[in-house]
Amino acid sequence: MLPSDLIPSPGGLVDGRWTGADSGASFPVHNPVQGELLAEAPAMTGRDAERAIAAAAAALQQPSSLADRQGWLRRIGESLRARREELGRIITLEHGKPLAEGVAEVEYAAGFFLHYADRLEALGTHALPEPLRGCRWEVRHRPAGVVGLITPWNFPLAMLAKKASAALAAGCAAVVKPASLTPLSALALGSLYLAAGVPRGLLNLLPGPAGPIADALCSHPLVRLLSFTGSTEVGVLLARNAAPHGKRLTLELGGNAPFLVFPDADLDAAAAALVANKFRAGGQTCVCTNRVYVQRDVREPFVERVATRVAALRVGDGMVEGTDIGPLVNRAAMAKVAAHVRDARHRGAVRLVGGDPPLPDADWGCFYPPTLLVGVRPEMLVCREETFGPVLAVADFATEQEALAAANDTQYGLAAYVFTADEHRAERCVRELAFGHVGVNTGTGPTPEAPFGGLKSSGYGREGGLEGLLEYCETQTVVRG
Ligand code: NAP
Repeated sequence: MLPSDLIPSPGGLVDGRWTGADSGASFPVHNPVQGELLAEAPAMTGRDAERAIAAAAAALQQPSSLADRQGWLRRIGESLRARREELGRIITLEHGKPLAEGVAEVEYAAGFFLHYADRLEALGTHALPEPLRGCRWEVRHRPAGVVGLITPWNFPLAMLAKKASAALAAGCAAVVKPASLTPLSALALGSLYLAAGVPRGLLNLLPGPAGPIADALCSHPLVRLLSFTGSTEVGVLLARNAAPHGKRLTLELGGNAPFLVFPDADLDAAAAALVANKFRAGGQTCVCTNRVYVQRDVREPFVERVATRVAALRVGDGMVEGTDIGPLVNRAAMAKVAAHVRDARHRGAVRLVGGDPPLPDADWGCFYPPTLLVGVRPEMLVCREETFGPVLAVADFATEQEALAAANDTQYGLAAYVFTADEHRAERCVRELAFGHVGVNTGTGPTPEAPFGGLKSSGYGREGGLEGLLEYCETQTVVRG
């Protein structure tokens, strides 16, 4: 079991109190390295969701001031920072990513609380400068109300922090369904909310099977907004289920990020950025590169640089120093990654780095070697779908137009990267690429201070920045005659 006073037992949080599931059922949370039992989490269901929604609605009967919220946000952000080693360890134990990445995720999560603590003035009422139609006009930002938050396992703390910080800043009360593979980081965040003095009911945590909890969040009349991060498939299902109930939705969904390397690029910088971007969390991030397009004239020197770096990556237990890549999250994830590589090789791609590990019988120990494929073509699964694993798939192109057409040839539009020394080319690419986040000469992902989100099937709505805060507000216009 994982010893931490941040993880209570039983680990459901409703109305400011730790509680078990109404049914008394629980489910195990395992370490993905060797299957060690980390904790039992309550398997909460629709009835628990009803309780949590009622508690959230009751909490909103006592509106908070901006100053209150600023204090809570600061305290939570600072306590995340102060306990980053311990929280990083919880993330690593339940997810498998290297400890340094776990600690970095805590810093990233803290950034959202601290950023929103500094942005609250944006929510103040503002008057339009001049009378219009013979009246004075003002604009207010009211809290959206009770919000449902559903989060994925790949950043168990940060994906929740993005949503929960904005919800708290806007004055909303949240009912959270964390991913079943990694609920413990969310429970730890709940402990920090309580320690920061956040009133009961403003954060409710419901670990448990997705269906019944999501159904309650989609259909309950008191829930005004649903914010989801996860696969496009589930996001579309939630949109369908929430539509008859008139809910607002924020959907942060899957990606299929292209990485373009032009002949004038700094090849060393591009190779370093690519490997850092691709292999974070073992390739299990929504912004990690899925397809690399390199101009034919520089393909060989670029691939050579990348291959050296990929071959040097060490796979193992994230708690062991020197590990670059932990295990994949479960057997299904490993089977998918292996199937993508098999499909690519079967269709003619060449594997320069990698191997064929046996698929374990259990959901742990799913270590997949960092893999480099060249000669990749558009019809291969590695190009069409999000692989979500440590596989770099490299194709080549002749012209800029060809590269941009290939990059945009996907239903997804989350992140894209361009490496070139030519400013004009970079600007043309930014304009043409249909992606919500474009990195020019960097593989850097989102930051709390800037809005982040997708186009096309990667979802809608934004997280981070002012735009992410306004997702949790209703705008009210007041006209005084
Ligand atoms: P997922 O299978 O869609 O699960 C995400 C969340 O949805 C989990 O809490 C899951 O609960 C819940 N869920 C599963 N089935 C559901 C259903 N039928 N109804 C309602 N909720 C349901 O995604 P994942 O595998 O955890 O995450 C990986 C995906 O997330 C990738 O596609 C990645 O690109 C995307 N992602 C996107 C962003 C972004 O910002 N755009 C960020 C991170 C990840 P259980 O765990 O209980 O099944």
